[in-house]
Amino acid sequence: MTNKTDPTGDVRLTGIAKTYGAFTAVHPLDLTVPQGSFFALLGASGCGKTTTLRMIAGLEEPSAGTVSLGGQDVTALPPYKRPVNTVFQSYALFPHLDIFENVAFGLRRRGIRSVRKQVEEMLDLVQLGEQARKKPHQLSGGQQQRVAVARALINHPKVLLLDEPLGALDLKLRRQMQLELKRIQTEVGITFIHVTHDQEEAMTMADTVAVMNAGRVEQLGSPADLYENPRTTFVANFLGTSNFIEAEVDSKSGEEIVLKAGGGKLVLPEARCGAPTTAGGKVLVGVRPEKISLTHADDAGEIPDGRNRITGRIADSSFIGVSTQYVVDSPVCSDFEVYAQNIDRDPRLVPGAEVVLHWNPAHTFGLDADQDAD
Ligand code: ATP
Repeated sequence: MTNKTDPTGDVRLTGIAKTYGAFTAVHPLDLTVPQGSFFALLGASGCGKTTTLRMIAGLEEPSAGTVSLGGQDVTALPPYKRPVNTVFQSYALFPHLDIFENVAFGLRRRGIRSVRKQVEEMLDLVQLGEQARKKPHQLSGGQQQRVAVARALINHPKVLLLDEPLGALDLKLRRQMQLELKRIQTEVGITFIHVTHDQEEAMTMADTVAVMNAGRVEQLGSPADLYENPRTTFVANFLGTSNFIEAEVDSKSGEEIVLKAGGGKLVLPEARCGAPTTAGGKVLVGVRPEKISLTHADDAGEIPDGRNRITGRIADSSFIGVSTQYVVDSPVCSDFEVYAQNIDRDPRLVPGAEVVLHWNPAHTFGLDADQDAD
């Protein structure tokens, strides 16, 4: 429907900010959302994501900065004059109108008389062609949400804003709707900007995620990039679980940094280190639980060379079917978490067992321990 590579369709926020009295909900923010992308604003409650979305919609007046859509400064335009539509968590369907008329509403209001073809196309898009004559209360939550999407898309906005649209649905339905919304976005090709506090939802749906914290974008990137290369402990923890080891730079060896940690040594590729790499520099070494292997101390000789390794003792283990989650006490990090796949599970790996934790150095990220306040 639209050209995904046309930069004139970008949403651009320049120095956009919002204060309420002395409280700053959104600090000055520069952000470009490329046309045709599925973009997520992700963060905990109160971080300013809805306020940001509402400033794009025109529902909230910015205290500073500008919003432009497709190269046009729309900061002063009221919501209905912006090429934007919003879908809210509450659906906001008209209860007395059937599904067809709910979807037709935007067209009829603009004085368009022959609406049938367009409404039917939209209902097909959201796979509700069979439900056209039902009233909203006769549909499931997920179906009602799809009506809300169809109703917003029928006006052919350049941008669809979605404010926690799946928040009212149960987990199973939410997962289905995540895939459904992604499919719809790919089909219509317009920009979707989606607000959520659910990291899995953002990672499943979005091409690009902006992680917000206390009114600021803390990091922007693809889901894989944010997960593999978080730049702060906040981002590392918001997008999953991570172990952290306090370490100090010892030396450099080629492309790698050698770190001292709890009497042992760890290696970190320099390219994956977000901290100064001069000797004596403090680095917080992060490693995700599923990247770690666990070997009984008696078999330590079988661990291949070139892996980071630390010794410890299993404090706890929980069998959860496909994997077992271990908590390991070690001199460098108490409560080290390890998620091990249950293939060839070693029966000796029980609480109290002495173990060696080891992983590929490439699966490590380094944060600046002095900069990270978390
Ligand atoms: P949630 O997921 O809970 O909606 P959010 O990240 O979307 O959170 P916002 O709704 O953008 O957060 O709110 C950001 C901050 O601004 C919050 O601390 C909120 O209390 C505050 N805030 C929002 N609207 C107002 C208002 N009208 N007056 C004063 N403070 C406000």
